[in-house]
Amino acid sequence: MSLDAFLEPESRQEAKPIDPALQAKLDQVTERLQSAWQKYGEALTFANSLGAEDALLTGLIAEQQPEIAQFVLDTGRLPEETLTLLDQVRSRWPQISLQVFYPDAEQLQDFVNREGVNAFYRSQELRKACCGLRKLEPLKRALQGKKAWITGLRREQSVTRDQLQYSQWDAGNGLQKLSPLYDWSEAEVWQAIKALKLPYNALHDQGYPSIGCAPCTRAVQPGADPRSGRWWWENPETRECGLHK
Ligand code: SF4
Repeated sequence: MSLDAFLEPESRQEAKPIDPALQAKLDQVTERLQSAWQKYGEALTFANSLGAEDALLTGLIAEQQPEIAQFVLDTGRLPEETLTLLDQVRSRWPQISLQVFYPDAEQLQDFVNREGVNAFYRSQELRKACCGLRKLEPLKRALQGKKAWITGLRREQSVTRDQLQYSQWDAGNGLQKLSPLYDWSEAEVWQAIKALKLPYNALHDQGYPSIGCAPCTRAVQPGADPRSGRWWWENPETRECGLHK
């Protein structure tokens, strides 16, 4: 994989070479993406959550295997910075196929009229109901007809992800789940984003290592558990929205 593919022609001469260890990891991820495309073709899709890991995967897919389709779940409660990144990605890589899925308007309207706009703070049950409507139902539509999906999950991210493998059967959704960055550290992800000069969510520079919906995400202190700012009022063991069981 050449760094030149990621840089504007005028900045190629000043670019520093990529660290060989990082280059080897990037090549490995590129191979994973290419072999996934060879195996699954159009039955493969990338769930782009516009977080740091997905910023890296977006760049690698766009430059190395742009045939892999991508989708974003817009819950209707995403931070402005996330939506800004979505438009940046679209304009930088017009060659990619990126589809946005929204919640079912009628179901959401019924829920909000019954429970209020911020019901998720009242109980875990209501929080899961909100995630179900805003994320899980649109995810089902996004995965329809697919045989494998790519995610930006990493083992290190939380206690709920420490058994993650590169490729595993996703029984909940009935297809294979591929996590090409499963064995990456957070530091390596950032080293790659900076080396390849990829666009990323501006909230990452404001203390948000992990970003979800605006009302359910807050900044954390440096060195804190990266996912401790997600659903911070719940126990660490329950801090998943159900997209990844
Ligand atoms: S993260 Fe919060 S706002 Fe977003 S879908 Fe889940 S409960 Fe609803």
